[in-house]
Amino acid sequence: MPWPILTCLALAAAIALHVRWRARFLRALLTARKELERLQREHQQAELQLRTQQQALFDSMAEGLLLLDDRGRIRLANRAFTKLFGQSADIRSRTILEALRLHELAELVSLLGEKTPVFAKELKLSRPAERWLEINGAAIFDGGGRRYGTVLVFHDLTRLKQLENTRKDFVANVSHELRTPLSLIKGYVETLLDGAKDNPEVAPKFLRTIQRNADRLQLLIEDLLAISELESGNVQLNLEIVPVGPIVRRVLEDFRARAEAKRVELADETAGLSVRADPARLEQVLGNLVDNAIKYGRVNGRVTVGGAALPEGQVRLFVRDDGGGIPPESLGRLFERFYRVDKARSREQGGTGLGLAIVKHIVQSHGGKVWAESQLGRGATFSFSLPAGPVAFSSSDLSSAAAEGASS
Ligand code: ADP
Repeated sequence: MPWPILTCLALAAAIALHVRWRARFLRALLTARKELERLQREHQQAELQLRTQQQALFDSMAEGLLLLDDRGRIRLANRAFTKLFGQSADIRSRTILEALRLHELAELVSLLGEKTPVFAKELKLSRPAERWLEINGAAIFDGGGRRYGTVLVFHDLTRLKQLENTRKDFVANVSHELRTPLSLIKGYVETLLDGAKDNPEVAPKFLRTIQRNADRLQLLIEDLLAISELESGNVQLNLEIVPVGPIVRRVLEDFRARAEAKRVELADETAGLSVRADPARLEQVLGNLVDNAIKYGRVNGRVTVGGAALPEGQVRLFVRDDGGGIPPESLGRLFERFYRVDKARSREQGGTGLGLAIVKHIVQSHGGKVWAESQLGRGATFSFSLPAGPVAFSSSDLSSAAAEGASS
């Protein structure tokens, strides 16, 4: 074969080989690129999943959490933190000072380092609301000892602080309430021992004062025991369907003498109502409210116990008087332990300042609510709600109610 033809054939073979290999190479390149893209997508997805899981985990924490990067800029804030600080804007990439304006905290974070890798600090915030926080901070280092961030955990201590203050106030109040009658008893006993016991003109009067103050102490201790039992949460309620009428009649009967002494008329407007309650506790609630209505009501006045069915299976019972009423600023505080509108008047009437707190606890332990309405000079109405009994209670309820009513 002549050379030119051979050369041409060799060239053609080389070109064919080249085209074939190029096509193969391009196909392999394409496959490799697709594989790379798939791996990248998988990686991104895994990263997103990890970040979502991390955020969900942090958001499920009760404590506020902040992660800062190596330059002190916020990288992550969880939901509890956002709530604690009332933050609505995105604070990522800002510093603590820019985002929170807490100079003290910013300084503590800046002092974190290898020598002091952690801190714990209590802080009181006044914005957005008054709050007590315990903040724990820790610097994070990588394997080579290089600082790459900070983690801050915020515990809300507000509720604990409030409880602590309530407990302190309670102890102070109890001590104060006990001290007054005790010092009177002590004073009169000393006077009697110093010779007054032989003076028939003053001795009986002093002894009566001692007796009155001893009664007061006893009442106070009984009320304190009742409150602590109710607050312990261990109260066993004997819930039953109770017709209200017989209980109201019994309570009014107990207070009849006191009402007559003040010429107060007692009225019962609870006919036909029944509730699901512990009868002894219901009697205690009504007793406290009727007692107050007579105590703080007017001479020649009227005290009414009434009620009505409420929607959603509840019954409202109330005790109304036409006395001097309660100033509006006191209405919201009446159910606090030891709160009295007029301290001197309450003590003079033998009050302990705990009656309405006991009422509130009993009603709440039945799942009900208690509230007071009043216009100064135009009397007061104390109402509470309880779960309703059947609309028309059975004949056996009625007969037992009638029997109780007759015996009281
Ligand atoms: P207290 O032993 O002082 O009566 P309570 O807890 O029963 O304690 O009542 C708290 C305060 O609420 C009373 O000191 C009184 O100032 C006020 N209060 C209660 N009931 C009435 C009422 N019916 N009318 C006016 N004030 C009342």
